[in-house]
Amino acid sequence: MDTAPILLVDDDPALLQALPRMLSLRMSGVEVQTADSAQVALTMIERHEYDAIVSDIKMSGMDGLDLLAKVQEHHPETPVVLITGHGDHGLAIQALRGGAYDYLLKPIDRDDFIAALSRALHTRQLRRQIEMQQQALERHALALEQQVKQLTHELVASNVANDAMLSMVTHELAPPLMSLMGITQLFNVQLQRADGIEKMRQNLVKAERDLRRMEMLHQDLQITSLIRTNRLSLHCTSSNLVELCRSVVDEYLASTDVALTFEACDDHLQAEVDPGRISQALMNLLSNAYKYSPERASITVTLQRSGGEAIISVRDLGPGIAAEQLPHIWEQFYRVPGIEVQRGSSAGLGLGLYIARTIVEQHGGRLEVQSQAGNGSTFSMVLPLAAGRDLDADQSQ
Ligand code: ADP
Repeated sequence: MDTAPILLVDDDPALLQALPRMLSLRMSGVEVQTADSAQVALTMIERHEYDAIVSDIKMSGMDGLDLLAKVQEHHPETPVVLITGHGDHGLAIQALRGGAYDYLLKPIDRDDFIAALSRALHTRQLRRQIEMQQQALERHALALEQQVKQLTHELVASNVANDAMLSMVTHELAPPLMSLMGITQLFNVQLQRADGIEKMRQNLVKAERDLRRMEMLHQDLQITSLIRTNRLSLHCTSSNLVELCRSVVDEYLASTDVALTFEACDDHLQAEVDPGRISQALMNLLSNAYKYSPERASITVTLQRSGGEAIISVRDLGPGIAAEQLPHIWEQFYRVPGIEVQRGSSAGLGLGLYIARTIVEQHGGRLEVQSQAGNGSTFSMVLPLAAGRDLDADQSQ
């Protein structure tokens, strides 16, 4: 157990010797130090923390009351017991008013002395415990405050994400909706004219394109919602990637006027994939290639085999991505969709690459990009040919 340090102050050498001896005989767990003047005591108090101070009031030079005032000022938590002459009640009252913990009358009764000192030490111990509890409470309050700040920050961030997403969805939906409404109004007018049918046919093509855009937007939002709620499941089957890529390319050609070519290493490249999801990822890369390329610039889809991997690449001749922008684009994959970096007017919801990356990674593959500013871009889905991971199985574990 720790010993309690006590300081005894008296300019009477006889008492300064007798009291520590008496204390060591009758009280355990205390370590007594002595000072023969208030000045010496002050220096010691500055260097050392005492659990109690016992001091005579009447001393030459600085007296016990002055010492008490100094202790009260600098160490109010340290109890001070003052000793006063027999019958000197006026001084005793002054001592108590000055903040003394207790007083003792001379000649000192040993039992009174031990009892007063024990109470003082007990009080000091209680004060220390309270101090520690107070500090622990303050730390706890601080930690709580930081947690609340953090949570508030996260809440605000998620609201910002939702708000940003909402405003982008609104922004994306407005043009096709306006266009579709305009087209239906035109249908009515054209139906009443002689050349109505041909015009209607052209408008129907436009309407189909707008509907396709909305359908893709809906798909992107739907799959993002599945990813965010950990409900995206893969249903992998042994699929011929050549056929899969060709059908996506054909579908894309049917809905756009793009100069799109498909090159495959072979007629057959079998892989264990979810054909729907991989088609979706490829479609996203294709629509980016189209979106970020000059009009009628050619786009090439290639399928190759490299060791145990299949590589589906989409190459465009668009502006490419500057080297310094690349990490930014990759980092964007890991962002919460919706909180977006500065985007150009042609940019969409910022979900295309996020979705493609997630799908490819859930197949145990990776999405790679090679691009140079002014020199086009190649986005590649690298997929293992061996069995892909079944997310349903992963999630049920
Ligand atoms: P969005 O196209 O909706 O903005 P994406 O996730 O599909 O979102 O793309 C993120 C960003 O990556 C785009 O805003 C664009 O800056 C860049 N990017 C993607 N594909 C291409 C590409 N083929 N050529 C140039 N930049 C591209």
